[in-house]
Amino acid sequence: MSRAIYLDENEFPKSFYNVLPDLPEKIPPYVDPKTKEPASLEAMAALFPIELLKQEMNYDDRSIPIPAELREVYIERLLRPRPLVRATNLEKHLGLPPDVKIFYKREDLSPTGSHKPNTAVAQAYYGMKEGVKGYATETGAGQWGSSLAYAGMLFGMDVEVFMVRCSYEQKPYRKVMMNMFGADVKPSPSDTTQVGRKFLAEGRSSGSLGIAIAEAIERAVTTGKKYSLGSVLNHVCLHQTIIGQECIEQMKMADETPTHVFGCFGGGSNFAGIAFPFYELNRNKKAGIRLIAVEPDTVPSLTKGKYEYDHGDSAGLTPLIKMHTLGKDFMPPPIYAGGLRYHGAAPSVSLMVKHKLVEAQTVSQADVNPMAELFAKSEGIIPAPETTHAIAAVVRTALEAKRKGAAATLLFNFSGHGLLDMAAYEKPGGAGQKK
Ligand SMILES: *Cc1c(COP(=O)(O)O)cnc(C)c1O
Repeated sequence: MSRAIYLDENEFPKSFYNVLPDLPEKIPPYVDPKTKEPASLEAMAALFPIELLKQEMNYDDRSIPIPAELREVYIERLLRPRPLVRATNLEKHLGLPPDVKIFYKREDLSPTGSHKPNTAVAQAYYGMKEGVKGYATETGAGQWGSSLAYAGMLFGMDVEVFMVRCSYEQKPYRKVMMNMFGADVKPSPSDTTQVGRKFLAEGRSSGSLGIAIAEAIERAVTTGKKYSLGSVLNHVCLHQTIIGQECIEQMKMADETPTHVFGCFGGGSNFAGIAFPFYELNRNKKAGIRLIAVEPDTVPSLTKGKYEYDHGDSAGLTPLIKMHTLGKDFMPPPIYAGGLRYHGAAPSVSLMVKHKLVEAQTVSQADVNPMAELFAKSEGIIPAPETTHAIAAVVRTALEAKRKGAAATLLFNFSGHGLLDMAAYEKPGGAGQKK
């Protein structure tokens, strides 16, 4: 068996796996913040394409066919199926015995360097089919904005991105990437929306994700564009399930069954993408695979957050969502993994944690710091700061198995590369620092 395991293009999944019908209970409805009633489809349709809303609330179909045209985009543009790799060099570095094995899925091999285009192209496709003119969205560190910008380029759609101003200034290359795909990028708060002007007048010019969401929603509502989110929601997690479905086939080819499946956890989409199809195996085949979401101990939404209704943004504009949350006013510390600095969590994963179908673990900054360099020096790939959280949990579990003399087959989602994060790795304490 070679290190890298490939599938043929005709083995790319024909449908998304919808976890909703397989959950032990329905996700409590989204609630309108003004009326406190369940948010109506009409109200939400002002923001999202109808097809995505149908997916969001579909409790009937486990399997949602991928339209041929979209399937072609996954294969020909996003170069799927993507390889699964046995981390033989990392195993050697850690001195693991032969029955402790590590596999990872190469989601960094996308045009923007992460798993996020998997949902961006689907959202652009369904929007295009409904005649949507364009999307407005927000981005923190820039991964989501660049993925939607890429998808907008493919489908000839306008994309306008409100980027948290401090990131806009600290990470200029993500902005350049968005511009090169043809998107319009504004530092948020901007003077182009009412909310933006209000926050500017209050002197809150460095911005926050909550403010950027508020600006994007205002823009969508006032221009007839739609609004788009890159994580958390059910339809986003749904699109990402192509990852786990590919992994199931590839693990079969390797003649292995994972004992543990890991993903780092920000809003939940890359974790859901790899884990949900294995949850289906657990249900149908009693496979007993442990599904582990890994979050920073400084942003512990799943492990320390309350399971309750909260807003998705810090301005309080989005519907209330029942989820694990640290509170919409939680101020995440300035860790490098911008994609993990989110107060809430996907409602689907939150429910699964409540029912103990998914485990959540934390890793500390000290656990995470050496991981980028360890991975670069063993496997030869520079991970995104977010991804190093998954690696830290995998390494911890592998070393524990080694110590106990137990067998383990660990699979994780390599959610993105860190080639635009060198500034973080260069900083004191960063992984690239000379010792
Ligand atoms: C955005 C991002 C994450 C976190 O988001 P999820 O929705 O939890 O997946 C993780 N890794 C990378 C590389 C990202 O860009």
